[in-house]
Amino acid sequence: MSESARTLNVFFDVDHTLVYTTHEQSSLRPGAHEAMARLKDAGHSIYVWSAGGQLYSERTVERFGLSEWVDGCFDKHPRVEPRPDLIIDDDWYLVEKYGGYCVSQYKEVNESDRELLEIVDKLAERGDL
Ligand SMILES: [Mg+2]
Repeated sequence: MSESARTLNVFFDVDHTLVYTTHEQSSLRPGAHEAMARLKDAGHSIYVWSAGGQLYSERTVERFGLSEWVDGCFDKHPRVEPRPDLIIDDDWYLVEKYGGYCVSQYKEVNESDRELLEIVDKLAERGDL
């Protein structure tokens, strides 16, 4: 376990960031487990939030086996506590607002997608991992 200079509250969006969901299926973006594990190993806190609500966020976390890394689930409320230090989202407007990293919309199953891991690499490069 490495010790970074500061601990961050990292917020993951659900739809089109962590998962792609249709009526028939729901798929987790590749690298989600590893990205969260690396963030936790560095001492950061991980939260999952969605405009679909807290319960939807919780169900997504349980469904895809992310519970061991996730510290909390929330509705996407502008005054959420704890405060996000960094968000990972497909909505550029929100990334501008809170700070963080914008991902392309995960809108089809793509096993070669590496965007979540690339974000973790960027955090490592800037000294936060
Ligand atoms: Mg989204």
